[in-house]
Amino acid sequence: MNPPASISRAHTSALVLFSGGQDSTTCLAQALSKYQRVETIAFEYGQRHRVELDARLNVLRELESQFPAWSEKLGQDHLLDLAVLGQVSDCSLTRDVAFKMESSGLPNTFVPGRNLLFLTLAAALAYRRDLQVLVTGVCETDFSGYPDCRDDTMKAMQLALSLGMDKRFLIETPLMWIDKADTWALAHSLGEQSGLPHGGQALVDLIVEHTHTCYLGDRTHRHDWGYGCGECPACELRARGYERFVKAGS
Ligand code: ZN
Repeated sequence: MNPPASISRAHTSALVLFSGGQDSTTCLAQALSKYQRVETIAFEYGQRHRVELDARLNVLRELESQFPAWSEKLGQDHLLDLAVLGQVSDCSLTRDVAFKMESSGLPNTFVPGRNLLFLTLAAALAYRRDLQVLVTGVCETDFSGYPDCRDDTMKAMQLALSLGMDKRFLIETPLMWIDKADTWALAHSLGEQSGLPHGGQALVDLIVEHTHTCYLGDRTHRHDWGYGCGECPACELRARGYERFVKAGS
């Protein structure tokens, strides 16, 4: 008996939600190691720091120049204007207010439903570009507790988007159950498998140097783990993960 059409064809193409941070860069590397055709998407919504948008272009350029096997698979990059998000949110990512924890227990970087919007728009683009898999770096393991990063939310979105667009989408979340130290280790092993000599270290170095995570947009302070203020929750998480990753490897 032939398998149903939806699973008879292996997935060969992906759209990666790519912000230029450590997590989404690792997701992009994984997609490039798995799929034949990979495109990237990001959203501009008045982020406080242009550095994030610059970082993603630098990461794409470095991946292309340093990893020839991946470069052939890397297709179009899409940047969608989502300025409307600034009209419905009042949070520290889009306004000039200090980062803090809210009484809800969520950090004030939280924009309600942001990932739901991102995935919906990504799926619409993937539909038009005929891309099968949506890859996102959401994670339940570390810190944030954003409800729209939960595994259940992703599964519900996969179903809603597949039904609503009458196309079988797969939402892939390679980081869902791993912590930041494991994310560094995953990048290292993906680099190793890329065919490039010392590719593991090359990918880790690329992520350290070119990705951006710091909530304050600090590109002046350089640490072992990359640039950042060193004190905001994103920097702390990245630094602690890197430290454990290095310790585990030595
Ligand atoms: Zn920081």
